Amino acid sequence: MSSATLKLACDLIARPSITPEDAGCQDVLIERLRAIGFECETLIFDDVTNLWARRGNAGPLLAFAGHTDVVPPGPLEQWDSDPFQPEIRDGLLYGRGAADMKSSIAAMVTACERFVEQHPDHTGSIALLITSDEEAIAINGTVKVIETLEARGEKIDWALIGEPSSRSQVGDVVKNGRRGSINAKLVINGVQGHVAYPHKVDNPIHRAMPALHDLARHEWDQGNSFFPPTSFQISNINSGTGVSNVVPGHAEVLFNLRYSTEIDAHQIIETTRAILDKHELDYDINWSISGYPFLTPQGELVIAAQQAIKQHTGITTSLETSGGTSDGRFIAPTGAQVLELGPVNESIHKLNEYVNVEDLDKLSDIYQGILERLLT
Ligand SMILES: [Zn+2]
Repeated sequence: MSSATLKLACDLIARPSITPEDAGCQDVLIERLRAIGFECETLIFDDVTNLWARRGNAGPLLAFAGHTDVVPPGPLEQWDSDPFQPEIRDGLLYGRGAADMKSSIAAMVTACERFVEQHPDHTGSIALLITSDEEAIAINGTVKVIETLEARGEKIDWALIGEPSSRSQVGDVVKNGRRGSINAKLVINGVQGHVAYPHKVDNPIHRAMPALHDLARHEWDQGNSFFPPTSFQISNINSGTGVSNVVPGHAEVLFNLRYSTEIDAHQIIETTRAILDKHELDYDINWSISGYPFLTPQGELVIAAQQAIKQHTGITTSLETSGGTSDGRFIAPTGAQVLELGPVNESIHKLNEYVNVEDLDKLSDIYQGILERLLT
């Protein structure tokens, strides 16, 4: 095992840090970062451990951001090797967190090590914002660290998030924004009764269907040059008592919209209400916003990433905003430019998660290339 990035990635994967556990990952990072002049601060909120490590006091500040936690491995017997014992087979490194996102964290650290060695007096500051609370509810992680930084006037200019953004080769896709995400819990009320007496019941399932059909086929917007059209998906429908001779009293529906910058949460709520009202439903609805959309237009960070990717892989990267939410949703509102750049996401959250071993050093070189363009 020759590569420093590979070694560190394996060390991190061997720690079973299922959310919100960090399993000692951040201690490993602290030791490495202190050795190259980072001030390391552990910020604990409830059961979540976060790390804010910073080298330098001056602006501008480039912060690498990521998470040490991983999703559960699922059935162990369906893995070809132990998810928490990193193993290389045919040039691929297997283990839970290999792609999402312990390899990125390893690459950030080794990029900083080489960069600091070559440029001990770099301009501005470098930071790492690491949480163990990204994969679950994410209320005691990045969001709280950002609140802490804001309260003391510490401002991130550029945030580089190591989420696995790439499609088939490292660097082919970077994410320069994310869609918003809004959830609704809809309860449609009816009148329960015997199926044999239809005039005495009001069937909430029958009432729900045409309204849900209208919601599902509604065109919310057409997207724009950075965002795909807003999408509506029903994730759960629950109704019924489990027997065949009772019409239930209500039906419960959960749905989510991933929305572009062409529409806002208020418009989504109003349009949904209009569609439900058109069907004269008796209903209750509760909304929760899990992330606002954000977009980082062409600027220093995007340009530095495009150039570094081109230099180290020959690839002309494409800017996209697809995929799930990320912790970028908490950093972008501070005014920071936010970009996600990490390994190929083909296997994330799956059985036998892997990363291409060759991509580890490439990613570390790209990160170093971005440091050089922004902080020298
Ligand atoms: Zn992730």
